[in-house]
Amino acid sequence: MAEESRYTGSCLCGGLRYEIQGEIGDIVECHCRKCRKANGTAFATNAPIQKADFKIVQGEHLLKKFQSTATTQRCFCADCGSPIISIKAETPDVYRLRIGTLDTALTQAPTQHIFVASKAEWDTICDTLPQYAERP
Ligand SMILES: [Zn+2]
Ligand SMILES: [Zn+2]
Repeated sequence: MAEESRYTGSCLCGGLRYEIQGEIGDIVECHCRKCRKANGTAFATNAPIQKADFKIVQGEHLLKKFQSTATTQRCFCADCGSPIISIKAETPDVYRLRIGTLDTALTQAPTQHIFVASKAEWDTICDTLPQYAERP
C-alpha cells in the first residue's frame, strides 16, 4: 500500500503542486533583507524539509531558480511568482519550504525570529518567541 502524503502545497496560480512525505522542521520567521525582497513582506516563514521527502507533482517546468547568493537558490513559480523553496549549496539534502504555500493544515507554530538585526524598521514583533540577530 502506498504511503499517504502528509502535506500538499501549491503556488498562487495553482500551476505548481507539491507533496511532502515526511516531517516539517522548526518553523522560523526570517527577517533578512533577501527574504523580505523575495516575498514583498516583513518576513518570510520558512521550515526545513528533507529533499527526499519533497516531490513536485504538477508543473515542475514552472519552478524557476534564482541564485540569490553564491550558495543559495530561491525557487519560485515562473507564472505567478510564489516562492516555494530555497536550496543552500552547503546543505543540499535540506530544502527550506515557504510554508505559506501549504494547503494542508499545520499544527506546528513558528518557533523563533531570525535575522532580526535586518528587520524592517516599520515592523514590530508582537510575540514572545526567541529573537536572534542572525542565526541561533
Ligand atoms: Zn504559480
Ligand atoms: Zn531570510
